[in-house]
Amino acid sequence: MVTRIDLHCHSTASDGTLTPAELVCAGAAAGLDVMAITDHDTTGGWAPAAAARPDGLRLVRGAELSCRWRGAGMEWPIALHLLAYLFDPGEPRLAADLARLRLDREQRAEKIVGKLRADGVPITWAEVHGYAAGGSVGRPHIAQALIRAGLVRTTNEAFASRWLGARYFVPKADLDVFEAVRAVRAAGGVPVFAHPRATVRGRVVPDQLIAGLADAGLFGLEADHEDHSPSEREHVRALAGDLGLVVTGSSDFHGTHKTVRLGEFTTDPEAFEKIVSAATGVPVLG
Ligand code: AMP
Ligand code: FE
Ligand code: FE
Ligand code: ZN
Repeated sequence: MVTRIDLHCHSTASDGTLTPAELVCAGAAAGLDVMAITDHDTTGGWAPAAAARPDGLRLVRGAELSCRWRGAGMEWPIALHLLAYLFDPGEPRLAADLARLRLDREQRAEKIVGKLRADGVPITWAEVHGYAAGGSVGRPHIAQALIRAGLVRTTNEAFASRWLGARYFVPKADLDVFEAVRAVRAAGGVPVFAHPRATVRGRVVPDQLIAGLADAGLFGLEADHEDHSPSEREHVRALAGDLGLVVTGSSDFHGTHKTVRLGEFTTDPEAFEKIVSAATGVPVLG
């Protein structure tokens, strides 16, 4: 029997469209054996996902941390995402980091709404805040307001450069990626670099930096992801081999904010078992 493992999924605790309870049920319905809930900068979905977890679905509690790296001579840092699995959510430093990132997400989204309103776009912060429903606020929630106002048809269109991609872009607070790797480890968690080679998303970091992160405690690289081309997947796989890192594959499911399906990309059981063995923060449920 094949074991289907999807280690990167979002709920309404951040910018997904299924509640944590709906997400775990959808995971079971999609035939997953293992699913990770990895909302942006929050563990807010952990408890409701755990409470609703169907029998037979193993749940990995995690998060996706907003990080940055600034190379020598770079004017702007490169934004990157670090998946963190099975860390202790009560570890004070990491918990404070996440709280700070969430607060900044609110302030930043409010600023973006202000810029849009200054140009006559009829949306409000109250509306956007309402779409976020108490979770980590992200640009997809602003996209939802732009769709409602009839200015764009899809979330993807809202990310074009004339909207949230550039013209109304405001940077968000993030963690230095080396500090984040160390903080996740200190909380007993296992850090995996999400979509490290996704050039469609913008600038990517050099392989040399990933080697440095491996020395600092990075555990794996997400290779199989819809934002990687086949050659980018191969490159990441080879780099992981060279550096002794595990390779993961995941959907990065966001409900209707994206078109990818649960389990569209999956992780090998051996890689999953290595992640579990390396974690000391919280156990896998189920
Ligand atoms: P933020 O975290 O607020 O900067 O918004 C980035 C989030 O928006 C990412 O986590 C993606 O889930 C989502 N996103 C980025 N680009 C797109 C796109 N072109 N279409 C749909 N969602 C996107
Ligand atoms: Fe997202
Ligand atoms: Fe990501
Ligand atoms: Zn994600």
